[in-house]
Amino acid sequence: MKNKASVVIIGGGVIGVATAYELALRGVKDIVLVEKNTLFSGATARCGAGVRQQWGTEMNLRLSIGSVKRYETLAEELEYPHGIEFSQTGYFMPVYSEKQQQQFEKNIILQRKFGLDVQYLQPNECRSVVPIVSLDGLMGATYYDKDGYLSPFHTTAAYAEAAIRKGVTIEKRTEVLGFVMDNERIVCVKTSKGDIFCDTVVNAAGGWSQEIAKMAGVHLPLISERHQILVTEPIERLFRPMVMSFTHGFYTQQEPNGPILMGVGDPNEPKGTNMDHSYHFLHTVASLVTSVLPAVGKARVVRQWSGLYNISPDKAPILGLPKEVNNMFLAVGFSGHGFMVAPMVSEITAQMITGEELSIPEARYKLDIGRYDRGELIVEPSVV
Ligand SMILES: Cc1cc2nc3c(=O)[nH]c(=O)nc-3n(C[C@H](O)[C@H](O)[C@H](O)COP(=O)(O)OP(=O)(O)OC[C@H]3O[C@@H](n4cnc5c(N)ncnc54)[C@H](O)[C@@H]3O)c2cc1C
Repeated sequence: MKNKASVVIIGGGVIGVATAYELALRGVKDIVLVEKNTLFSGATARCGAGVRQQWGTEMNLRLSIGSVKRYETLAEELEYPHGIEFSQTGYFMPVYSEKQQQQFEKNIILQRKFGLDVQYLQPNECRSVVPIVSLDGLMGATYYDKDGYLSPFHTTAAYAEAAIRKGVTIEKRTEVLGFVMDNERIVCVKTSKGDIFCDTVVNAAGGWSQEIAKMAGVHLPLISERHQILVTEPIERLFRPMVMSFTHGFYTQQEPNGPILMGVGDPNEPKGTNMDHSYHFLHTVASLVTSVLPAVGKARVVRQWSGLYNISPDKAPILGLPKEVNNMFLAVGFSGHGFMVAPMVSEITAQMITGEELSIPEARYKLDIGRYDRGELIVEPSVV
């Protein structure tokens, strides 16, 4: 293994590999990415892979709109022959209360300012988009047909292969164990396969990022939390868009070849890195989803799995440098939506490292870790 690098990236999920690619694209040499398991074995491989632009804050809108633009042509840009299966079949968000209706109407005003043609559907219009939706208590829905989902495996593989072609070294089964510090700088990354002396480190370790930061004496205000997904056998097409209910807390989509995938958060989930799965989840998610989409009840369950959300206090990412260490860039805290913003986040992280102007200039002072001390949280009204 190389014992010197300009940049060591910790974590081989979508954020780590995309950042490796973005840095290499900018001509940075001697990049080494270290991953303790295999590539995309963390949250990236376990996610719902939904991509939505229907957000309620300007920052999340900028991150997701920029990322969707990039995803639309990413396979060609990365010369990835298999495609990344970006399917823009929309997000449908049902409304069940007046408060929610008012919030969604406000969101739509903002979303339209950003050029998104998001629709508010009346109850009698909802079945034209999701024919199996129950009308019980339904007060309408928002729908945007350019949201969708894509393959986390192909997307991450596409970034990784392009990064390798540009000279990035990827060390799998290589665990970061600690750092050698010189005052406020990391000078060496200690791994299970040896030491790597370096100028810059990127912490893209997902649910383990706070442990990595701690090795450099940095406290990150993050928690990790198990989130589970259940998948059914393939059945005939019942619905096309992702259905995401903030009232019930679930999201569900039917994949192109027929299986239905669904997930829901558990307010009583203990914090930590446990990735077992539970019957409680299966029962909860199945009950909630079938109360809104009764026809899904006929599909048989095939299996379930879990992964980690890495959650920040305002559920928005933390990017840039912490005040204690001046060469460990953070790309952490994505909560349940890191996959959909990966293109913009990795671009911005690479721009910060190379000293370029940022594609979203305000990210420098709005997504930094200092916002929590300043009390300038990005309060997003629309997260599950
Ligand atoms: C159930 C579930 C559903 C989700 N659904 C969606 C969705 O629909 N849309 C969306 O946009 N997002 C979704 N997310 C969130 C999304 O998966 C994450 O935000 C995103 O994948 C984060 O990518 P990452 O690269 O930061 O982290 P990860 O993919 O977790 O990668 C971090 C990597 O760091 C490695 N690592 C950790 N410690 C070390 C160490 N000491 N040494 C070396 N390597 C280390 C890990 O092994 C891991 O591979 C979901 C997440 C879950 C769990």
